[in-house]
Amino acid sequence: MPFHPSQLRVNPGDPEPLRHHRTDATLGLGDRATALQKLADLLPQLRELHDRLYAQRTWSLLVILQAMDAAGKDGIVKHVLAGFNQQSCHVSAFGPPAGAELSHTFLWRCVAQLPARGQIGVFNRSYYEEVLVPRVHPDYIGPQRLPGACLAADPTRAANAKHLAAAKPIADGPKPAAPNPKPKTRNAKLDFPSREFWQGRFDDINAFERHLVRNGTHVVKLFLNLSPEEQKKRFLVRINDPARNWKFSPNDARDRRNWQDYHQAYNEMLSATSTPWAPWHILPADHKYVARLAAGLTLQHELRALHPQFPRLDPAAKHDLSRAKALLEREK
Ligand code: ATP
Ligand code: MG
Repeated sequence: MPFHPSQLRVNPGDPEPLRHHRTDATLGLGDRATALQKLADLLPQLRELHDRLYAQRTWSLLVILQAMDAAGKDGIVKHVLAGFNQQSCHVSAFGPPAGAELSHTFLWRCVAQLPARGQIGVFNRSYYEEVLVPRVHPDYIGPQRLPGACLAADPTRAANAKHLAAAKPIADGPKPAAPNPKPKTRNAKLDFPSREFWQGRFDDINAFERHLVRNGTHVVKLFLNLSPEEQKKRFLVRINDPARNWKFSPNDARDRRNWQDYHQAYNEMLSATSTPWAPWHILPADHKYVARLAAGLTLQHELRALHPQFPRLDPAAKHDLSRAKALLEREK
């Protein structure tokens, strides 16, 4: 079956999206050499689509990358997104919030980095960390200084759920299902301070992305799906190669020990925030060449769907061009 990005999409409400996706899939993209050649051929096409997006200045594109450590986010930035026009493509990486960031809501620092019309913004990690890391490590919640009422149940939840259920699906998007699914197995550790608190964050994210899409920021969300075995190999490379030591952080080992908790937190996040207007894509990440080509093809599909066009000049502007041409040709 030829590759199509829709096969990577998460159906809204699927209670365990990761169950359907192998980390070592090759997606029929061919062997490494073939895939790398296809990627090299693809980059100029992505650039052309970006040029149109930039000239038209109607849409902006927000690419969100999420993954466990060492899954290859930086490689996607370097080998795929670097193909875009660097003047109007900006990458923002997000670490643990600190300083002023902790004095604002969890979306604030990302809002400040959103792309303007015509631009491509890349979030290397994002506000999605806020429904992953503090779920597995609740110590992160205290420093956010949230009022007690925010930590309790959210009364607007029912209204949000109704709004999501009524939303129209995107043309070729996955079939919407009932939002707010319950996972098959519950992990009480992930429910601190309350299940409603996390559902409130999912609702906030969905409403925020609805706002972005409705106002011209197209959102493409890519989750790089890595196996623990492949992560171990990549960590050992980082540890054994002095030139890569800086890439290994003590938090990497900590998060690896909590793999199962993260796996469940990711399953719930992907399920609750894959919406008709901003679906998640799960990319197999054990083979870097597969993840990179799949990312490139997904971006091409999403950019094409926006039909970006170079602006057409009105008669007055065309007249100005003819006059400028005549003046230039008369120069000696
Ligand atoms: P790699 O995938 O190569 O390991 P990285 O994305 O982990 O790269 P780093 O700069 O090493 O990049 O680490 C960033 C760290 O910041 C990650 O451990 C991530 O989980 C953490 N982080 C980002 N946002 C938050 C957040 N809101 N709360 C807590 N931790 C966060
Ligand atoms: Mg890391």
